[in-house]
Amino acid sequence: MRPEALNPLFAEVQSLEGVGPKVMKPLEKLGLTRVKDVAYHLPERFVSRHAIADLDAGSEGEQVIIALTPIEHRAPRPGSRGPYRVLAQDAAGNICALTWFGKAAYGAKKLLPVGEQRWIAGRLDRYGDMLQIVHPDHIEVDSAANMGRLSEPVYRLSEGLTQPKVAGLVEQALARLPELPEWIEPGQLAKAGWPAWRDALRLGHETTNEKVRDRLAYDELLANSLALLLVKAEGRRRKGQALAGDGVLRGKLQLPFALTGAQTRSIAEIEGDMAQEAPMLRLLQGDVGAGKTVVALNAMLIAVEAGKQAAMLAPTEILARQHFETLRKMLGPTGVEIALLTGRAKGRERESILMGLMDGSIQILVGTHAIFQDTVNYRDLGLVVIDEQHRFGVAQRLSLAAKGRRAPHTLAMTATPIPRSLTLAQYGEMDVSRLDELPPGRQAIDTRVVGQDRMDEVVAGVERHLASGQQAYWVCPMVREIDGVPDLADIAAAEARYAALKERFGDAVVLVHGQLRPEIKDAGIERFASGQARLLVATTVIEVGVDVPAATLMVIEQAERFGLAQLHQLRGRVGRGAEKSTCLLLRGSGLSETGRARLALMRETQDGFRIAEEDLELRGGGELLGTRQSGEAAFRIANLEQMQKLLPVAHGDARLLMERDGGLTSPRGEAARLLLYLFERDWGVQLLRGG
Ligand code: ADP
Ligand code: MG
Repeated sequence: MRPEALNPLFAEVQSLEGVGPKVMKPLEKLGLTRVKDVAYHLPERFVSRHAIADLDAGSEGEQVIIALTPIEHRAPRPGSRGPYRVLAQDAAGNICALTWFGKAAYGAKKLLPVGEQRWIAGRLDRYGDMLQIVHPDHIEVDSAANMGRLSEPVYRLSEGLTQPKVAGLVEQALARLPELPEWIEPGQLAKAGWPAWRDALRLGHETTNEKVRDRLAYDELLANSLALLLVKAEGRRRKGQALAGDGVLRGKLQLPFALTGAQTRSIAEIEGDMAQEAPMLRLLQGDVGAGKTVVALNAMLIAVEAGKQAAMLAPTEILARQHFETLRKMLGPTGVEIALLTGRAKGRERESILMGLMDGSIQILVGTHAIFQDTVNYRDLGLVVIDEQHRFGVAQRLSLAAKGRRAPHTLAMTATPIPRSLTLAQYGEMDVSRLDELPPGRQAIDTRVVGQDRMDEVVAGVERHLASGQQAYWVCPMVREIDGVPDLADIAAAEARYAALKERFGDAVVLVHGQLRPEIKDAGIERFASGQARLLVATTVIEVGVDVPAATLMVIEQAERFGLAQLHQLRGRVGRGAEKSTCLLLRGSGLSETGRARLALMRETQDGFRIAEEDLELRGGGELLGTRQSGEAAFRIANLEQMQKLLPVAHGDARLLMERDGGLTSPRGEAARLLLYLFERDWGVQLLRGG
């Protein structure tokens, strides 16, 4: 149970004044559901404004306060989506437009009666040959003295929220901050010059002071490290089993290729771990196509040789099926029993698999999360392999580990190339094996960046490609347009693109996206894999696992909307066969400098680790860490720079605390428990109570 001291922080956000059903949605969108979330919703930046006497004194892009008198209201034509404009003039008679888009315009009319001077604060922009202020931050009747602060926090918003609204909620949340015991040692706090927790949080909304921000980021990193160490300690408490294989089964494998040096090395590392009684906790990192499957197979055979079972967990049904087929083929000459269990297995089929697992006749099981439901019992599970690790949360990992009578060894595999500096934050103290060498004979994928406006040429190119007997992927960012959300309206919709391409290519085209029923989705991919369909139009559902060597062209629409890690994974779907492959990255117009640099990087290299490192430089680590998708290591406060600077410190401190007080029962340990709750790493604390 959550400590009482935290109750005021965990109160629902509805308990703040002014939070009705209307703002609940946008608040939720920002992840602000508790009072503490609001208190931690730190400003993205601060604006400093200056007052100007007339428009001539201000320049474009500047934050200003100015007295203006409305002279005319221009509402959009009924039914049109145009903006609402109010033309207003300064004391010298210069004219400026005040502009609103969407619903925000409703208030404008009342606030700006024609002929009455108002004080306006906002950012000066250009509109044609006129100046304009879009969505003014403040409109006041009284003089500039009442305009609020000249320096003001700017919060991240979502539609339906305004800056003053959020600022008001923050103020209420801050007023409710309880006094909490300090989890940082007084000496360390003094030495770093960091403020106490409550002061830091309050100051965080007033300044960008580095010490203030660092303290708050450190807290989050400390919580994360501590939770990961608690998981690790729990793993240690549970005895594992030393497994040594005799190599007989591995010797019977007839692989059509020789292992790479990196594969051999990784297998040796795994074998070494499994021979220890302490349960293995190892991450196998290897780019798409690096050959992780065969490494996993060797690990599983070690378990089977030692008389145990192995289970392999895949993130999707499709991937589970593919692994099953691949492994079954490779296992052919060994006589090892392998089975597939997904959520779709029903009735007699399912019963028979459950029996086989219980009596041990099934030696290797491949499946989706269905393999760790309560009803699935193994005779003697020795190894768990988790493919695409980042898609699974810590909780799932633990529940699977709890399956064996003795903790099984765990091998996690990921193709997400995480920069070295961040591995610690994501995977805590897992040991890492890296497949940093691709199998020989891989051809480079010819990657080109093409303007979206050259669509006709691209489609013609696809036509030639299909005519030559090859297959192609066409990837879109979304399934369909989202109504009434203007900035998303231009996102290419997979459905619309499919309809257009179908007119041209007929039944050769098939559509697959995440909103289809799994059977239909799989059937679509199957049609493509078997060669019946020649062009697969898809969203990112094909990001992992689809393996069709005859597909040698990939078109990615609005490539700038994807993360680089994602583009890299998508591109990995081609270049799998002997033929030369091509990847076309279509980009929209008006791309930022960073946007251009990111696409250029994709063109330049195919090295996932380099892409990861440089993307990090270009735009920060949130996306790479997969925080948005998995929530596993969601860092809301610490930014990349702080991670690099403070993570080693926080991790060292967490380790020290664990060494001295592994049960977190000392006063500082108790304080650290609060911290774990505060940052929603309470899975760490839960382990403590169980142990
Ligand atoms: P990933 O790391 O993306 O899971 P896979 O295990 O699917 O990669 O391997 C990709 C392809 O490379 C497969 O077709 C596999 O048979 C092949 N492969 C794996 N190891 C080697 C090797 N040492 N030499 C040649 N081909 C290999
Ligand atoms: Mg794989």
